This record gives sequence, C-alpha cells and structure tokens, in this order.
Amino acid sequence: MSRERLYLFDTTLRDGAQMNGVDFTVKDKLKIAALLDDLGLDYVEGGYPGANPTDTELFADERDLRATFTAFGMTRRPGRSTSNDPGLVQLLDAKADAVCFVAKASDYQVRVALETTLEENLASICDSVRAAKAKGREVLVDCEHFFDGYKANPDYALACAQAAFAEGARWVVLCDTNGGTLPHEVEAIVAKVAARIPGDHLGIHAHNDTEQAVANSLAAVRAGARQIQGTLNGLGERCGNANLISIIPTLKLKAEFAQRFDIGVSEAKLKNLARASHTLDEMLNRAPDRHAPYVGESAFATKAGIHASAIAKDPATYEHVAPGAVGNRRKLLVSDQSGRSNVLSELERISLAVDKDDPRVGRLLDEVKAREARGYAYEAADASFELLARRMLGRVPNYFDVTWFDVTVEQRSFGKGERVTVTRAVVKVKVGEEELISAAEGNGPVNALDLALRKDIGKYQRFIDGLKLTDYRVRILDAGTEAVTRVLIESEDETGERWTTVGVSENIIDASFQALMDSIVYKLVKSGAPA
Ligand SMILES: [Zn+2]
Repeated sequence: MSRERLYLFDTTLRDGAQMNGVDFTVKDKLKIAALLDDLGLDYVEGGYPGANPTDTELFADERDLRATFTAFGMTRRPGRSTSNDPGLVQLLDAKADAVCFVAKASDYQVRVALETTLEENLASICDSVRAAKAKGREVLVDCEHFFDGYKANPDYALACAQAAFAEGARWVVLCDTNGGTLPHEVEAIVAKVAARIPGDHLGIHAHNDTEQAVANSLAAVRAGARQIQGTLNGLGERCGNANLISIIPTLKLKAEFAQRFDIGVSEAKLKNLARASHTLDEMLNRAPDRHAPYVGESAFATKAGIHASAIAKDPATYEHVAPGAVGNRRKLLVSDQSGRSNVLSELERISLAVDKDDPRVGRLLDEVKAREARGYAYEAADASFELLARRMLGRVPNYFDVTWFDVTVEQRSFGKGERVTVTRAVVKVKVGEEELISAAEGNGPVNALDLALRKDIGKYQRFIDGLKLTDYRVRILDAGTEAVTRVLIESEDETGERWTTVGVSENIIDASFQALMDSIVYKLVKSGAPA
C-alpha cells in the first residue's frame, strides 16, 4: 500500500506566541524557525505582519527556509475592498511563501463578533483568497470556530469552507478555536466535511481546553484531514495548542499512522525531538516538564524493582516505544524501593560495569537507602547518584577542596521604605598546593556562592567555563524530628547536556553548597579533567 503524505504546520511563532509570558524577539523567532525547519516541519507560521513591530520586521526580509514560511492575517474587513484594507495590503506585501487567513465559519460569530451579514462574510473569504493567489501566494484559510459553528449551523460552516476551497485555497483548516470539541465529534464532523472537500485539502487546528488537542488532531486525520497544525510543547493561549512534540512521534512510531502516512520528519531527525523541546523551554527560561510524553525526563523512568528487572531482560516489557527513537533515554530510578537490578542497570548506563555479585553493589544500595531516609532524592539527581557510585568504587579524583566560605546578606534602609539588599560570597579553594580566594556578588546567597565557587578553580577552570545553572528547586522536608531542606540544582554545559544534583541539610546554604559542589565535580569527571 502506498503511503499518503501528511503535512505538519507549526504555529509556535504565531498562536504559541499568544501565550501569557511568551514574548519572542525577531532573533528568537528566527532561531525557532530554523529549528522547526531542520526538524522537517512543512509549514512555519512566523506571525502576523502588521499586527506588531516584531512580526512586521520578521516579514520585511526573505527568510531562507526549506519549509513554507507563512504569514497570518485576517480576511478583508466587511464593507471594504481588498485594495482598501490596509491590514490586508500589508499581509499581502509580507515576504512569505504562503498566507494563512483567519475567517469566521460560524453564523453566530459572524453576526455577533463581526457584526456583518453571512453573505458579506462569504464574499470576504472569496475576495481575500483571490487577492492572495493573484500575488502568487499559496493560500490557507483557517475556519475559525468551525466545529461550534458546524454544530449550530452545518450548512453555513460548510459554505465558508467550500467558498475558500472553490476559490483556490490550497488548505481549508478546520479550527476548534475554543478547544471544547471532543475527539468523536471531531472525527464525525471532519468525515462530513471530507465528503465535500477532498481530505488532502483539509487541515485541523485544535486547542487543548479539554486536554484533547492531540487526540482531536489524530481523530481528524482518521476522518480524512491531511494537515495538522500545532505548536512545540503545546504552547498557546489558555491551555495551549495541539502539541506537535507528542503528535510527531505518534505519527512516526505508532503503526496505524506510520504504515499509512509519510511526514516530513525523518527517523534521524526524530532523534532531535527531545532536544528541540528542551531548546524552546530554555529560550522561554522555564524548566522542561519532567512528565512530558516521549521527551520528559520521566517519560522512560521506572521505579519499582520488579519493573526494573523486567526492563533489564527486555525493555519492551514496560516501554511503549524505544526512548532513543525520540532522543530520550531510559532511566531506572534508584530509590528506596529499588533492588539490586536498578543499581546494576544504572551502573551499566554510566559505564561503571561491576560484577553483579560485587559486595560494593550492596554497600552502594545501603548507602543510597540511608541517604534517601535523610532526604536525598537520587531518582531526581542522576549526577549526584553517579558521583556517589563512583566514589564508592574509588573513581573520583579529589580535584579541589573548599576550605572555607562566607556568605553575607546585607540590607540597608534609605528611609521612605526604600531598601537595597546586597549579597556577597567569599570562597577559599585549595587546588593541589595552590590556595585561591574568590569573591562574588549575587542576587541572593545561593547565586553569590555559585558565582564565587565557579570563579576560579585554578587549572580546572577551563573545564567548567561552559557550566551554568539552569534550575534551582528547594523543598522543606519533614524528616523525623526536624525539618530539613532539600535543594535540587539542574545544570547544563556547552554540549547541551543537563544533569541534576542534590544537597540536604538543616541549612539551605549548606544544602545548596553540596548540590553546587556535586555539579562542578560531575562536570570535571564528565570532561575527563586529569586528577
Ligand atoms: Zn489557534
């Protein structure tokens, strides 16, 4: 059976950018566009030229993409001609390969929101498509509120979609704008539309307000649609858009779709998926969702000992796809529930092969359990576990010692409620026979300590230049008689590798110090710094 082509349309830069707290610069947008292009997306929607200075600038120059670079905008305003609508003129002048119009497809929306007649709305769709085609653009029409409109007045919703198609739109995109439609409804309605407009001209644009945007997109494909619109990590206003990071591997790895369809994302590029997802998070300065399907740190993490021993025999026992296919990795959690098989598998993963009957394995397990009882969380801190294991097996050089440190927080009042807080850290480090003193100011005690610690470790400095702290999480634990603080620090280096370290103490500075030290030492070990 020959496979059909399914097209992927990314709107991270337009619909995704409407999310609270997301504010892309032109540079950000170009970086993300390049990432999407490299991944193999067919369409990259860049934004809404004319609506804001960023998007106007983005579309002022030709962009060199393999994907179809798409500008978004409204159909002509009611009561105007296409040449007399400045918004439309600007959209058609944008340097884009395609234009995606948003048009109302619900009689209620046309009357209440647009305040015009049903006929004028249809005329606006036809005129706009014609004008964009005359400019040589590929044309897409997003039929806004299509599903709600169809439920209320199927004839009118269909008339809008058919008008766009008849006028020559390459794609008629059915939008679940309010995100409230359920998968079985989407499947039934798309099937009805596909009886009038060929499926290879139909797209689906789903929002996630009932957490079914991915399911709705797949349901539309089952019913005949051949374009899926979505965003990286499901970015988008309210509850987000359909998450392409979940949709892409499902299309590639699940037989029902993989056997029927080809998409632009190759098997090789699929392995960059986790990286693409994390890159976007990093640009938005947020920690990746650990539990994200396919790409989350926990997506292939297994805790219970019995599962772990089964996975060691055959990964398929507890994994729905191979983690490496999407650039993720298997993780067997070392925790107080775990048995020897978890520890052995972890040791193997970090290339610390030991004989399974080696008595040190039992000692390591006992140590992990004892520390976890005190509040350490090794399942969340892979790098600290690795260091603990390496130390017990005698394989971590003593690179340097911190012989002393001092952290001060000073607050001054200038009257009238004006205050300024200054934090300083001073650190004494001994590297071989050399003693080094560094000081730093930071925006808090942990930041100051981190900066001072990483400022100068002598001959090892060059190994940690690319090291940076990407996340810092504090939890107060009720461990027995008194509360202790657990600090988890996530770090990243110049290769993009991330790792997490842990510290536990009654004192938050001390707990942070332990986690920071582990992070630096881990980086030195990883970089092969000489003892
Ligand atoms: Zn949308």
